[in-house]
Amino acid sequence: MSLTRKTPLARRTPLKRTGPKPRKVGLNNPKRVKPPTKTEWKALCDDLARNTCRYGRPPICERCGRGPMTIDEDVPYTFASMPSPSVPFRQLQWAHIHPRGYLATRWEESNCLLLCVSCHMVWAESHPLEFDEWAKEKIGEQEWWRLRQQALAGARGEMKVDYPETLKRLHARAVELGVPLPKIPARLLA
Ligand SMILES: [Zn+2]
Repeated sequence: MSLTRKTPLARRTPLKRTGPKPRKVGLNNPKRVKPPTKTEWKALCDDLARNTCRYGRPPICERCGRGPMTIDEDVPYTFASMPSPSVPFRQLQWAHIHPRGYLATRWEESNCLLLCVSCHMVWAESHPLEFDEWAKEKIGEQEWWRLRQQALAGARGEMKVDYPETLKRLHARAVELGVPLPKIPARLLA
């Protein structure tokens, strides 16, 4: 048996790209004609829902009541008095009652919470059952179960997220509450 080939190896796909390099066109680029990808839809919905949660609710943790800046307890501060969105909210996070991986409830307002890092990332993560009990009490048992059924229906494929509709609903709610709006191409809201 000889180990040398008689015929040269043929490459099936060309080594070099033949056409011009495909350019990535961002959603906010007016030249963009392609509809958003699923990842882009999700990011847009997240931005709106996150802002609605952060700015549409009192800037305190919904579990422990701590504010993002608790240096002076006597000085209540409002959204208008906040210097920069990234600074005062660094400790308050957009959190979910039923995990955000369940897309059918990810953008439901009643499934969202504003929690401090410690209640969100430490307590809720390490005490999932206690978190569920607390959340049930917070939003009411009926709503907790309704959301859970919706999350599961989505996971089973019985419910599909209508992204254009969800985006419009979230945008309308953000406008209604007067929260800062992320950049969203107008054509997606028409
Ligand atoms: Zn907290």
